[in-house]
Amino acid sequence: MVTRLGVDVGGTTVKWAMLGADHEVLGSGSAPTPPGPGAVVELARGLVREGVTSIGIGLPGHVDRAAGIARFVPNPPGDWTDFPVGPQLSAGTGLPVAVVNDARAFALAELRTGAARGRSDVLFAVLGTGVGGAVALGGEILAGPRDNLGEVGHITADPSGPPCCCGNRGCVETYAAAPAIVRGLDGFATAAAVAAAARSGDREAAAAMSRAGRALGVALGDAAALLGIGTIVVGGGVAGALDLMLSAMRDEFERRRPLIGDVTVSPAALGPWAGAIGAALYGGEPQ
Ligand SMILES: [Zn+2]
Repeated sequence: MVTRLGVDVGGTTVKWAMLGADHEVLGSGSAPTPPGPGAVVELARGLVREGVTSIGIGLPGHVDRAAGIARFVPNPPGDWTDFPVGPQLSAGTGLPVAVVNDARAFALAELRTGAARGRSDVLFAVLGTGVGGAVALGGEILAGPRDNLGEVGHITADPSGPPCCCGNRGCVETYAAAPAIVRGLDGFATAAAVAAAARSGDREAAAAMSRAGRALGVALGDAAALLGIGTIVVGGGVAGALDLMLSAMRDEFERRRPLIGDVTVSPAALGPWAGAIGAALYGGEPQ
């Protein structure tokens, strides 16, 4: 039986999934992210079982997909810059290894087996510690000439807004990522706690969710105008609060209606395993 292993490396947690021939999940698991890239390679190597034919590794940052090398991967522990993840893991297992951006892995999984199944043109946003993004056009996830296409999280929502890790100010990520939603509010440790308070009628919490929604609406509305795509899928840990952001998002889409027309927004369908499933799908594709 053909089994594809997908490993989704996050800043705090590594998740993995084994995929069968029809994209069915045969097994999955998670562990705290090991202290550096070498230890992550060892963890992945230890997951290989009889029947595994390929491995995909999703990393939260920019990678050189052709060479299987990490480039700009700031969040997981250790120094990932220029680490040869693919070559090391391939040498250790004898298997083909694909190394991909985690938002693109998420998007491929949702496109093939999740919320965007059957669609060909879709904008994806992933709300977590940061805000990732990807674009599907003609049924394919676009990579772009520099293999970094789709960073909707770094579209500017307010040029005089808070500083962003990318060097710019007021990126969507500085409003809609989990730490940004918590920032400036007293007594909340997580975005989920802010969302719960907003549901209970806390006005400041509701305003923070609405700010996140407006910033997302600006970015995704502008992306829809640029690309001519009206289907949006939103995932990641913060997407459970999508309903609290939707009204402010829709205001921005309405503002642009003559240009972008109808826009549909759907929550992701595969939950926390989308990244691992997508990494496995990438691993099974011809390199
Ligand atoms: Zn930015």
